[in-house]
Amino acid sequence: MGVSEKLFEAAQRVLPGGVNSPVRAYRAVKMAPRFLTRADGAYVYDEDGGRYIDYVCSWGPMILGHNHPVIREAVERAVKDGLSFGAPTRREVEMAELMVELVPHIEMVRMVNSGTEAVMSAVRLARGATGRDKIIKFEGCYHGHSDCLLVNAGSSALAGGRPSSAGVPEDIVKHTLTAQFNDLGSVEALLAQYPEEVACVLVEPVAANMGVVPPAEGFLQGLRGLCDRYGALLVFDEVITGFRLGTGGAQAYYGVRADLVTFGKIIGGGMPVGAYAGSRALMEQVAPCGGVYQAGTLSGNPVAMAAGLAQLQYLQEHPEVYAQIDGYAERLASGMREIAARAGVSAAVNQTASLLSPFFAAGTVGSFAAAKGSDLDRYASYFAGMLQNGVALAPAQFEAMFVSAAHGEEEFERTLEAFERVVRSFC
Ligand SMILES: *Cc1c(COP(=O)(O)O)cnc(C)c1O
Repeated sequence: MGVSEKLFEAAQRVLPGGVNSPVRAYRAVKMAPRFLTRADGAYVYDEDGGRYIDYVCSWGPMILGHNHPVIREAVERAVKDGLSFGAPTRREVEMAELMVELVPHIEMVRMVNSGTEAVMSAVRLARGATGRDKIIKFEGCYHGHSDCLLVNAGSSALAGGRPSSAGVPEDIVKHTLTAQFNDLGSVEALLAQYPEEVACVLVEPVAANMGVVPPAEGFLQGLRGLCDRYGALLVFDEVITGFRLGTGGAQAYYGVRADLVTFGKIIGGGMPVGAYAGSRALMEQVAPCGGVYQAGTLSGNPVAMAAGLAQLQYLQEHPEVYAQIDGYAERLASGMREIAARAGVSAAVNQTASLLSPFFAAGTVGSFAAAKGSDLDRYASYFAGMLQNGVALAPAQFEAMFVSAAHGEEEFERTLEAFERVVRSFC
């Protein structure tokens, strides 16, 4: 038995499922997870001496690659001055100013500690600001694990086979309405049914927790129009897409304005950070200015802000990063399509910017239903095969592959070689 397997046994005695977040347990691929010791550039290293090209990238934050010196040094400097004060600091202001400068249509930001907290708080603000209770979300989109959003959720809430969660009272989720991603009609039907009751439409502008499913042409614009018509706020959950589709996020990428935007992952540079943002008029309804209460002992933590600020500043100063990672993902996606086609294996490879995911499915995958209909057993074999060939992917179909600036030509070639070997083994 390897070291990871032994650690996993020990872990399962003291941590539920051996992990602190369900997807890490590898249940969707029916294996024991790798226990990692360190990560550097495009690679992660495990307890058993293995080295893997990493496309998990901590689920998105490590857009510059692991252990980037600029971020590490910013953290090292910050640590010397103390870990937490529970008082305002200069870096929080600089971080918010930079976000307001880079992201369209936001004027104020509130920092929190996770994506979950960011979306939960944005929904509370949307309800407080509109005086309405209902919200519309999409089946297969994931917005963190707060009660009212654990309805028909994506990511590991889905891979675990439970569309929702035990412990969430019916009374709490009765205001959460679920529509279909890329189906404006399903949204309009709900708005028409509850014309004055919907506080917000909450969406991942690129669905990335059902695997990657890009928005259909006109879908996001259509949501904007429907929200305007029915007086609902449009909330973009950009916990993945923020600073990944470019420094302006999905609003800039698709040219659609959102009323509230949530962030996480990249803005923390690998530290636990989330944020929600919007117009001054909306954000000033948050405590202590307004009646929507939201607080956090460690919010705006100085070390976390140092990491996040360093990463965002780097991205601002190096816009070429986006052309590089998007180009890599685009070439990888088309390489994978060609290899699969040559081998006669049905695969739909979806890609937007530096997000991509292959589905083992016959047709295109433009909806949650299509994503769910893909061959999950084949994904599990694919995952295991790639790992054996030195490539670490998300251990579940309903996740994205993340490309970082540390992924270069060597990693590109090796990834496609591995893909070819694995796909050929399916024939
Ligand atoms: C990861 C994620 C979240 C939750 O963020 P956590 O930091 O894990 O709480 C929310 N929304 C989306 C779109 C995510 O991908």
